[in-house]
Amino acid sequence: MNRKKILVAVAGACGRMGSTIISLLQKIQDMEAVWLFESKNHPSIGTQAFGLTINDNFEQCPGADVLIDFTTPEATVVNLEIARKKKIKAVVGTTGFSKEQIERIQSFAGEIPIVISPNMSLGVNIMMKIVESAAEMLGKDYEVEIIETHHHNKKDAPSGTALKLGEIINRVRGREAREGFVYGRTGIPGPRTTDEIGIHAVRISEIVGEHTVMFGGKGEILEISHRCFNRESFAQGALIAAKFIVEKETGLYQMSDVIEWFKKPS
Ligand code: NAP
Repeated sequence: MNRKKILVAVAGACGRMGSTIISLLQKIQDMEAVWLFESKNHPSIGTQAFGLTINDNFEQCPGADVLIDFTTPEATVVNLEIARKKKIKAVVGTTGFSKEQIERIQSFAGEIPIVISPNMSLGVNIMMKIVESAAEMLGKDYEVEIIETHHHNKKDAPSGTALKLGEIINRVRGREAREGFVYGRTGIPGPRTTDEIGIHAVRISEIVGEHTVMFGGKGEILEISHRCFNRESFAQGALIAAKFIVEKETGLYQMSDVIEWFKKPS
């Protein structure tokens, strides 16, 4: 069957994620980058990338099926406002939104469909499901520790993904989102309680991202780990999310929705 190509506008086209997405788009048949744009005054404006000009705005985009945006929270909100006016669907990988910005994104999702996720890697999102199942099966008596490792330039600690893994376990256990979280240990903390979820951030070298959840019981430890070697895993997830979102009309979706859709036989 000759399916129509999905036409993609890429925000932050010269950034680490934007450029990875554009280079992956060159390798697949059913999607095509049609509009690349960067922040105003970016040194790349007017230059060529993969046969397309880097623009300084999204307003003039003549048309696209989906916007993929890995920029900054402020830029994403502006870009989504434009996407809403142009009826362009959106995949958002940007992190660090304020509560107010999330509320605005929710309001846009009443008019266009949006996938938003702080971690677009399929592997990490499947790890979240496995951790959820393990927490359900093991019950409340297993001790939990979460260890994440990232490159030395990472700004925040612990990672949003480590926090989310802990939140999933708390949700299964019927507790508040971050109840019992203990960040690192120092001094003389004494014996741990079963209720604690220890969260530890390692920062070293150029590691893109590693997460391990340990469940400790009597005489055994179950470890669930994920390692990310480069940004292609996030970019690949974003492209799958784009294929998912073009089938939707409105609504705010997460990668868990994308995975449910992805695993269905076509
Ligand atoms: P980056 O290398 O700094 O790229 C961001 C790009 O967006 C920069 O080129 C920036 O230009 C550009 N930009 C800023 N404002 C813009 C605007 N109004 N319109 C268009 N482009 C604009 O950062 P990155 O590593 O690619 O990460 C970008 C975001 O994605 C961050 O929030 C990061 O945490 C997140 N991220 C998410 C995932 C995930 O799986 N969800 C994975 C990796 C990263 P200037 O340099 O001029 O500001």
